[in-house]
Amino acid sequence: MLSSTTIDIDRVAASFPTIDAMETELQRLEGLISRVRARQVEILAAVDHLQVPAWDGCRSLQEWVAGRLDMAPRNASDLAVLAKSASREVHDSLRTGVASADRAAGMARLENAGASETVLDRAEGVAVGQLGQLMARHRRMTPLDETQAFKARRLWFQPNLGNTLATATMAMTGADMEAVLTALDRRADTIINPHDEHRPRLEQRRIDALVYLALDHGAPVASDGPAPRRLPAHIFIDATECQRTQGEAGATTRSGIKVGPNTLREILCVGDTQTTIIDSDGLKAVPTDGDRLPQRTRDFVFFRDGGCQGDGCTSRYRLEPHHIIHQANGGDHNPELLVLLCWFHHHVVIHQYGYTIDPHSPPGRRRFLAPGVTRAPPDG
Ligand SMILES: [Zn+2]
Ligand SMILES: [Zn+2]
Repeated sequence: MLSSTTIDIDRVAASFPTIDAMETELQRLEGLISRVRARQVEILAAVDHLQVPAWDGCRSLQEWVAGRLDMAPRNASDLAVLAKSASREVHDSLRTGVASADRAAGMARLENAGASETVLDRAEGVAVGQLGQLMARHRRMTPLDETQAFKARRLWFQPNLGNTLATATMAMTGADMEAVLTALDRRADTIINPHDEHRPRLEQRRIDALVYLALDHGAPVASDGPAPRRLPAHIFIDATECQRTQGEAGATTRSGIKVGPNTLREILCVGDTQTTIIDSDGLKAVPTDGDRLPQRTRDFVFFRDGGCQGDGCTSRYRLEPHHIIHQANGGDHNPELLVLLCWFHHHVVIHQYGYTIDPHSPPGRRRFLAPGVTRAPPDG
């Protein structure tokens, strides 16, 4: 049972004459924990020797520890490594409370990796968090390790609990990772000016580059050509839900990931994504071609604008016409209300970050208004 009383901070603080005394007490307690861990490690060594985990149907001592002691895998792994360690120094440092269990486990791993005496001596002065890096540098990689690393390659996508975000996990060899990261970073620099101090963070630019590559469908694209058709995404819209929540609910992709009002607007703007509306009468495929910008108007906007109309932007990458007044708000395909934008300004800034075009900014020098802002603040 949890007690309803919280920590009496004043009383605790008053029981120490100085801050240093607090620190000393914390260290003394950590030493106690080390000694308790040392005892656990002894018992676990016996458990391992008797092959208890195997009898209990566990894959490893680590798995057994995690289950029986209700521990996070990382901590269970530390205890298992210590239980299997043959190093007298490691066990002594834990038993006497000189080293924390984290440090002792780090040292044991380093020894297992075949580090020399010199390296081990150096490790004593290194912060616990850096022991892992030191170990990685001394670990050997056999041809078998290499094959296993390659066989472990994978890429999968997992939606979060609310289906509002998909997280991708990639596993690949170091060489493949180098190739992929180099390509992504290079591509990111072609979309977003590397000298722009306001550009998105590196990890965000990499995703932008990845999506961008996906839009290519693997085929090379002329750097200043018009944007080809967008992703063949299929959006399902529950008409009732979507209307009730102004687009904040009811729209999902085929895989179930949600699509919000910004993306819905982008679909209306670009109009090439397949849409299926579900209402009380059942399924209704939406003929998006009917909404799409007529080719003649599209060509005219390209001819008239020539490049991205964002103020100061010189990009001609994947130019797309954008509707200054969203069709959802009554805008139409009138060329006066269309503006040519590069992929970054159109897809990222307008339709994902939710910026709008300042209607008072002149053609050729269009400014962007942050979400919720309706007029540009006065200059200066
Ligand atoms: Zn648009
Ligand atoms: Zn631009």
